[in-house]
Amino acid sequence: MNSALTRRIAHLDMDAFYASCELLRYPQLKGLPVVIGGGRRKEDDLLGKLQQAYPDGEWTEDTFTERLDRIPVDFFPRIEGYTGRGVITTATYAARQFGIGSAMGLMKAAKLCPQAILLPVDFERYRYFSRTFKSIITDIAPVMQDRGVDEVYIDFTDVPGGQREGGRVLARLIQKSIFEATGLTCSVGVAPNKLIAKMASEFNKPNGISVVHEADLQTLIWPLACRKINGVGPKADEKLKGFGIHTIGDLAARELHWLIENFGKSYGAWLHEAAWGRDDRPVETESEPVSMSRETTFERDLHAVRDREELGAVFTRLCQQVAADLQRKGYEGKTIGIKLRYDNFQAVTRDQTLTEYTADAKHIRQIAGQCLKRVDLSRRIRLLGVRVGSLVKAGTAPAPVASYSEASANPPPQVNDHGQTELLFPLD
Ligand SMILES: [Mg+2]
Repeated sequence: MNSALTRRIAHLDMDAFYASCELLRYPQLKGLPVVIGGGRRKEDDLLGKLQQAYPDGEWTEDTFTERLDRIPVDFFPRIEGYTGRGVITTATYAARQFGIGSAMGLMKAAKLCPQAILLPVDFERYRYFSRTFKSIITDIAPVMQDRGVDEVYIDFTDVPGGQREGGRVLARLIQKSIFEATGLTCSVGVAPNKLIAKMASEFNKPNGISVVHEADLQTLIWPLACRKINGVGPKADEKLKGFGIHTIGDLAARELHWLIENFGKSYGAWLHEAAWGRDDRPVETESEPVSMSRETTFERDLHAVRDREELGAVFTRLCQQVAADLQRKGYEGKTIGIKLRYDNFQAVTRDQTLTEYTADAKHIRQIAGQCLKRVDLSRRIRLLGVRVGSLVKAGTAPAPVASYSEASANPPPQVNDHGQTELLFPLD
């Protein structure tokens, strides 16, 4: 990296991604309130109706899928009268006007906007568009970090155009290239780091570009609610509000030692850095993962003894998810670790390094379970995470060092005890 250049990091977020993917095949729904959610449903219902409406048409399986854009709007199911526990994954901007948003129950949405059209999720289709837009980006700017199906970080620093107008020129090129290839729009924030770029991509949605410089911290970032910081969840936000801290500016005004006293050493220090717009995390490309992890924040804080069963089930599931991630991406690792955050926001990690590599859920669960025994379990827990590190491509792992098996029939595990020390927040 050329150190003479200012660091420019972009966060790119696709606009109403699932809904926009649906509108590509049902352009007749553009401008209408549409929500995506609920269970899977076959296209057949709609196509059956279409066939009835145009009995003279030539209906083969191919023409079925080619004529989705001809299905009259009236044929689409409305959300009115919905009963059930389905949740919205995405709503079009027209639906958002009625106060409908992601993660809202479909029943509540039905009350707010009964005429909204309800479409089932089709993850396969969204993953296809996800791969497509990401490959367009890496053709232009190779240092890209996946942040899920519809968002990425991109390092603009050394890319041609990445410094012009603070990154606006390159952002515009990427936006245009994605739109031309897919018909989908996105919003981009370009800033000195990931933390601010993530906030900035929301400033001009949809189809917007926002450029933020270090000098804009006070005017553009400090007026925002603390919750806008990626890593400040609802519980931390509630606690901050209890201290009268509502905006990022309020947070920046607090002393570092005060934040540490009230939010723990690592989280308190991280809050301070975040409020001052400081974030050195690199944009990590997918091709070289150092570790893979899964973590979950509980709806209510759990206790190791009283909520033993629930905690155990979550723990096993996290291990299975990490194992599945490793296997899907073709990696194995030999450092197994856990992370806990207590009700007072203090975080602890423990890990253990094996002599062999693994991607096996049961093996990971067994070692992670041993790590769990080495932490204080008398306190309530708000977050639990499992991590597998020291990764290698599956099948490329060198054989375990021979001296281990020769030295002893039962070699001691290599233990790296990090104690109650630093953690990087947030772990994304
Ligand atoms: Mg999005």
